[in-house]
Amino acid sequence: MRRGFLLVVSGPSGVGKNRLISELRKRMPDILYSVSATTRQPRPGEVHGVDYYFMSDEEFTRWVEEDRFLEWAEYCGRRYGTPLLFIEEALAQGHTVALDVETQGAVRIRQRVPEAVLVFVMPPSLAELRHRLERRGTEADEAILKRLQSAAEELEKVKDYDYVVLNDSLEAAVGALAAIVQAERLRVHRSDYSDLLASIHAEAERLKPCPGRINSD
Ligand code: 5GP
Repeated sequence: MRRGFLLVVSGPSGVGKNRLISELRKRMPDILYSVSATTRQPRPGEVHGVDYYFMSDEEFTRWVEEDRFLEWAEYCGRRYGTPLLFIEEALAQGHTVALDVETQGAVRIRQRVPEAVLVFVMPPSLAELRHRLERRGTEADEAILKRLQSAAEELEKVKDYDYVVLNDSLEAAVGALAAIVQAERLRVHRSDYSDLLASIHAEAERLKPCPGRINSD
């Protein structure tokens, strides 16, 4: 069985992480998605258990106390966390799991799971990020400003990542993400080729000349 890994897709709010992950999963449907918990309110159209597990502050605090998050972070006044059990089970079964987290979460995941693959999604510019957040229309002006201020700080964190993907064209960015997954799956420590090796050794053994046999050629 191939060894699974965490594909941590991170970067500033509005950069398109979520869309990138969903397009990637259309191309590579065996990639699982880790649904996060959050204390923020659902946006129109968001579904509990699909987009997020929407939790009260009390419930979130209980989960923190019970150590049920792989990581959690406060972002723009709300809390977001990655449920641990799903990650443990998915990795044990050899899956690739995509996560959409902000930069503090990515750093914490790296500390707890050093072999996680960290991808930073870079916006073409801060102005473009602003346009995207405004177009999305899910936040009030004040919240957009907060997210943009946070974005400027988050961009500094790119140096802690393994890969950077510029999201100026969705098609190219999804292609880059898919290439990362393919390459990471080919890493020697993630491949289990022991059966193949055993059969090659057995074949090589059969090719050895028998001891004592006189070579008549
Ligand atoms: P939004 O409110 O726009 O859905 O998400 C805000 C930010 O929280 C995004 O940058 C998103 O990547 C991040 N986020 C979502 N889920 C998690 C999580 O489980 N942990 C952390 N640390 N950040 C998350």
